[in-house]
Amino acid sequence: MNRSAAAVHEWVASFERALTAGDIEGAAALFAAESYWRDLVAFSWNLTTVEGRAGVAELLRTTLGSTRPRGFAVTGEPTEGPGCVEAWLSFETAVGRGTAQLRLVEGRAWTLLTALDELKGHEEPTGDRRPRGAEHGADPDRVTWLERRTRETEELGHSRQPEVVIVGGGQGGIALAARLRQLDVPTIVVERSPRPGDSWRNRYKSLCLHDPVWYDHLPYLPFPATWPVYAPKDKIGDWLEMYTQVMELNYWGSTTARSATYDERTGRWELVVDRAGEPVTLRPRQLVLALGVSGKPNVPEFPGRERFLGDQHHSSAHPGPDAYAGKRAVVIGSNNSAHDICAALWETGAEVTMVQRSSTCVVRSDLLMEHALGPLYSERAAASGIDTRAADLTLASVPYRIMGRFQKPIYDTIREEDAEFYARLAKAGFELDFGDDDSGMFLKYLRRGSGYYIEVGASELVADGSITLARGEVAELTEREVVLADGTRLEADLVVYATGYRSMNGLAADLVGPAVADRVGKVWGLGSDTAKDPGPWEGEERNMWKPTRQPGLWFHGGNLQQSRHYSLYLALQLKARAEGIPTPVYGLAEVHHTS
Ligand SMILES: Cc1cc2nc3c(=O)[nH]c(=O)nc-3n(C[C@H](O)[C@H](O)[C@H](O)COP(=O)(O)OP(=O)(O)OC[C@H]3O[C@@H](n4cnc5c(N)ncnc54)[C@H](O)[C@@H]3O)c2cc1C
Repeated sequence: MNRSAAAVHEWVASFERALTAGDIEGAAALFAAESYWRDLVAFSWNLTTVEGRAGVAELLRTTLGSTRPRGFAVTGEPTEGPGCVEAWLSFETAVGRGTAQLRLVEGRAWTLLTALDELKGHEEPTGDRRPRGAEHGADPDRVTWLERRTRETEELGHSRQPEVVIVGGGQGGIALAARLRQLDVPTIVVERSPRPGDSWRNRYKSLCLHDPVWYDHLPYLPFPATWPVYAPKDKIGDWLEMYTQVMELNYWGSTTARSATYDERTGRWELVVDRAGEPVTLRPRQLVLALGVSGKPNVPEFPGRERFLGDQHHSSAHPGPDAYAGKRAVVIGSNNSAHDICAALWETGAEVTMVQRSSTCVVRSDLLMEHALGPLYSERAAASGIDTRAADLTLASVPYRIMGRFQKPIYDTIREEDAEFYARLAKAGFELDFGDDDSGMFLKYLRRGSGYYIEVGASELVADGSITLARGEVAELTEREVVLADGTRLEADLVVYATGYRSMNGLAADLVGPAVADRVGKVWGLGSDTAKDPGPWEGEERNMWKPTRQPGLWFHGGNLQQSRHYSLYLALQLKARAEGIPTPVYGLAEVHHTS
């Protein structure tokens, strides 16, 4: 065993000894003065990050007695990380089994991730626990799979109430429902659109995923090895529809959730839904809102909108370019949707102007793949033994507080390698940024969910002038023009508002009422005190995948990777409650912002 591995084994043994002896100060002393412990449900029944020895001690004072952790064991060979030794561990708690990731610097923990994998006695039916399917022998009362499934469909939500209702049947709702199905938690997904996958199908015609296939897998059922790297939106729609069926989800399409009120006395929600014109009241204990982080279009109220004689719509309602060949299109905004829509309009022969109102982080897809995602999510990562779960846990092991330190060098490299591209964009007048602290695209996404474009061609069209660039705020619309604050007049037959989305709060308020939505507070963002992410520091994504200030109310969503990874922790929290396993929550977040 080399020195690094020996240091890891020694640390792990000391940590276990301290925890078993209830020696909280001793355990805290094993952490460096600057240190971070991120816990995903295993100790805290929350997603939480504590900082420094004081934070570690406080977490343990509250949780050690009920968690009763033990059996910490190093799995695999420790490896050299950036200025540290990295190791994977397994461990147990009183109620579950977990995985930990440790970064050790000079014998002390710099970062520790503890993540609950499964609940004892409620493991998923995988491997040897796999269901048999066929019941061999002769049985006059035999019930087939189809009969059982049909009965479940007929009963659930009518004569039998679900434990969980998920409102929103996009990839988020679908991934969570699949996990809950494997954990045997009766669940219904209600979705306004008719078919699973419609939230992708209904987006603009040219859309392909911006993230590569290795990042996008759903739980249990990875895409086949022949799947395209960047899947077209309708293909993703079809996959989600197939997935919903084969994963046996109780999915109510064409069903709109209208209102939800919580009965403190019974601990159940009264959720009124409109199922294809028929009102149905559901009474679940747990209500999950998976309404889309990009769910509520942000449509600006520019003066003169009603006077404009051409077509105008938000990017979410953009039908695609076909009707606009030879027409003048003005696209307001300069992030992903704006770029994609501009490029598709240009390809169809429209005369296109992009209006940039604020700076944008642009990174070429190939470089993002090589430097940012490739080390964890790529063919090369898979070949080096990093499977999807290992990649997700590695990503999760970097506490948000110091993620910038990991991310900034990636974007520094990209900026250097692609200096010529950025110079051309700047020369065309495009205003670039890499986040308030130069930490790049991923943190912009985590902080505000906006402000970036993954370059797949449109930036080249901006740089060479094929797409005209205009800069500044919109002052008004006239019958045929968009007028900017500096007096620039842009003639237009079409105006697309690629102006982004509002937070999930607005959609939540429509459903649970403004009082409950305000009690729960803003959804998404880290409290980084950067643009569109006001402080104070939260340590975790606000309200996502964890308990909120409203009992029985949860939020789920994010990109495909987040939906996959965090649906596990949300599912385990819901399963524990369904089974009556005590779930004392440590560090329930304060609410600082309502929207
Ligand atoms: C243009 C665009 C491109 C993107 N590209 C990528 C990408 O490449 N990779 C990636 O990982 N992510 C991408 N994302 C981000 C994210 O993955 C998607 O927004 C994704 O659709 C989020 O899934 P979701 O299930 O959280 O929400 P959604 O897909 O928005 O689903 C929410 C659902 O809730 C339903 N709903 C809302 N209100 C009600 C109600 N009252 N009753 C019933 N149903 C209701 C809606 O109909 C909708 O289907 C992109 C987003 C956009 C907008």
